[in-house]
Amino acid sequence: MSIHTWQHGMFERSCGTCTMCCKLPAAPEPLNKPAGVWCQHCDKAQGCRIYDERPQGCRDFMCLWKVMPDFPEDLRPDKCKVIWQLSQDGRRAFAVTEYPDALQTRKQRWLVEQFAREGIAVQLVGTGPTPVKL
Ligand code: SF4
Ligand code: SF4
Repeated sequence: MSIHTWQHGMFERSCGTCTMCCKLPAAPEPLNKPAGVWCQHCDKAQGCRIYDERPQGCRDFMCLWKVMPDFPEDLRPDKCKVIWQLSQDGRRAFAVTEYPDALQTRKQRWLVEQFAREGIAVQLVGTGPTPVKL
């Protein structure tokens, strides 16, 4: 996996039945949604009820599983319970999760190693009541 040679916008997966970004991250105005709480507009089975009018923050949300071709297919956020994101300068990767042990799996540890190999610092963003750890 190579983050540094990847270009945003060249590839996009379909979210399928995943709606994790409508729950895990906090969302500012106009949604005013705390982290770890479902957005009022989310239908968990169907997705966003206001898709065509969704706020800009939702349109801009960048999930590495969705946009990186060599991101492991089986780490779709609703399956692995982690949304991976990248900072704008590409120097930090954020693992957003509400599960304390979500990064303890073999695949997630491999991913953390890939980021480290490319000099990208991993930062956990816990959204649940229990602190998460690497
Ligand atoms: S977390 Fe990623 S895969 Fe899941 S709905 Fe959001 S953008 Fe799509
Ligand atoms: S407005 Fe739609 S896309 Fe945005 S968080 Fe709510 S359900 Fe998800």
